[in-house]
Amino acid sequence: MITCNGKSVYGGIAIGKIHVMAKKEQRIVRRSVDDTETEMQRFEAAKAEAQNQLAELYDKAMTEVGEANAAIFEIHQMMLDDDDYLDSINNIITEQSVNAEFAVAITADNFAEMFSSMDDAYMKERAADVKDISERIIRILTGSDSADMSSEEPVIILADDLAPSETVQLNKDLVLSFVTVHGSTNSHTAILARTMNIPALIGTNVELSPDLEGKLAVVDGFNGVIYIEPDSETLAAMEKRRDEELEKQRLLQELKGKENITKDGKSVLVYANIGNVKDLAYVLQNDAGGIGLFRSEFVYLESSTYPTEEEQYRIYKKAAETMAGKRVIIRTLDIGADKQADYFNLDKEENPAMGLRAIRICLTRPEIFKTQLRALYRASKHGKLAIMYPMITSVEEVKRIKAISAEVKAELTAEGIPYNDIEEGIMIETPAAVMMSSELAKEVDFFSIGTNDLSQYTMAIDRQNPKLDEFFDPHHPAVLRMIEMVCKNAHAENTWVGICGELGADLELTEQFLRMGVDELSVSPSCVLPLRDKIRSLDLSK
Ligand code: PEP
Ligand code: MG
Repeated sequence: MITCNGKSVYGGIAIGKIHVMAKKEQRIVRRSVDDTETEMQRFEAAKAEAQNQLAELYDKAMTEVGEANAAIFEIHQMMLDDDDYLDSINNIITEQSVNAEFAVAITADNFAEMFSSMDDAYMKERAADVKDISERIIRILTGSDSADMSSEEPVIILADDLAPSETVQLNKDLVLSFVTVHGSTNSHTAILARTMNIPALIGTNVELSPDLEGKLAVVDGFNGVIYIEPDSETLAAMEKRRDEELEKQRLLQELKGKENITKDGKSVLVYANIGNVKDLAYVLQNDAGGIGLFRSEFVYLESSTYPTEEEQYRIYKKAAETMAGKRVIIRTLDIGADKQADYFNLDKEENPAMGLRAIRICLTRPEIFKTQLRALYRASKHGKLAIMYPMITSVEEVKRIKAISAEVKAELTAEGIPYNDIEEGIMIETPAAVMMSSELAKEVDFFSIGTNDLSQYTMAIDRQNPKLDEFFDPHHPAVLRMIEMVCKNAHAENTWVGICGELGADLELTEQFLRMGVDELSVSPSCVLPLRDKIRSLDLSK
């Protein structure tokens, strides 16, 4: 038995034969050409064919793996029309009088190197994409096929790396798992593997030898291990784990597409919490009805400086488009306390949880706030976005927010930039907001109760301090009464109420929440189907 380790990008157990997927080496030879005009025409024709192929791949991906993953082929189509990319190819062909294949290969190398050296993680990922589109054009120019991916029975695919286009072209019924030597967690391939619901490992220390072809292997996506020619004990243990997992998945999968409705007909919205656009795949996979909390501060935490309006716009637009008309609630930045970004240069505080954080930073540094709001309003044209403000304690704060957002909208209008009128809500996560909920409900479209902070402030228990565990009661009646009070006060003003703190996923409380009239529960993507299961088992008429 050979045991190799990798980084798991999706859990699960796969048992089957290995198929080693070797890319056909594309040897590009530099050839001099006399007629550069004809060579440019060859390139243009290949580019047009590549665009057709990408459009077909987009349609295929849309039906098979959803819009989030299909989007990559749209990006590829756009990259193929990028002026800098095209200028580079044109210049190499015309100025050096060389063949199109060579010009494309050199341009691909240069652009991939440029993208790889960028700090921005998103731009780094584009290196693989520029190589992918260039290889496609070269294949068309040279008339060669893509890598051989045909196999008759389901296999574990072992490869150096997989381009997203290669992954999506695979017949999914014949793929048990992906194991690659390279690749990154953030790559589209990793996201596709997650969406395809199969275990996948990247960065695996396996030697890609043709001798491995057809050998039996087990991929343990929970622990990031591949066992090649497993001994009988390992195989038996893994078979047991796989069967247990399959049973669990099967039961939950049956709930996909079903309503979140109790036996007596009360329905509730079940949304997902995310911190990153990369989490969107999980949202779709788990059939969440929307996004109830996008913790936008992670956009700031992942950056070494203030993210620009354009960077943020791209992220929020992606979330809105991916959710295709379903509600996406983006919380404005909740920096401070446990979420610190050095470049904010915040003073050290005695009591950071009660310090300058969240909306307090936005109101004291409106230039940061306005950049985020501009990005959010611009993105509102691309789906059903909603904005939510954290750490509210008073009506006065809401009025100050409204004044700033009115300024932002007026600026956008003056610049001729379109935006939609969208829902705006606040988080109820301070006891002050609970006590003011009647007045606050008159000001906003919705409330989302942040039980993590509401519990900490109500019980005066620092949520970061494990020494206080024995004093922490997650079901403290004070917190539950507050939730009930918020629902009552909100509904009196036709304001809807959600819960986006961890308590929303607590199945012991689901019935109580529904009886209180909570309209929406937003939980981690993996909690969506178990919560749906719970809701469907309840009968509130009893
Ligand atoms: C909360 O406080 O419950 C909440 C959802 O926000 P966060 O956990 O990000 O503070
Ligand atoms: Mg909070």
